[in-house]
Amino acid sequence: MRLNCPHCGTIASIRTSRELGSTVREAGAQCTNIECGHTWVARIVAERTIAPSMMPKPGVYIPLSPRSPAANAPAANQLELGMDLPPPRMAVPTG
Ligand SMILES: [Zn+2]
Repeated sequence: MRLNCPHCGTIASIRTSRELGSTVREAGAQCTNIECGHTWVARIVAERTIAPSMMPKPGVYIPLSPRSPAANAPAANQLELGMDLPPPRMAVPTG
């Protein structure tokens, strides 16, 4: 995975990495530009499912991408396999 420094845009190196859960990983990154020297912590999150897993892990829920072909199938595979659904999201008033 390629990560660029948010300040100078130079490619960064990943120095450390640890799992925070099945869908989240935290990485310590360091800019390789010695004139910049920025180090920071980045998060890698499983955000959307493009194609559902054929080996779904109980408790892991990654929402289907609206652009996924599976999103248009009436019987989504993950639902049939007894995956837990997240609590409904609250509507946030706008304006
Ligand atoms: Zn930098």
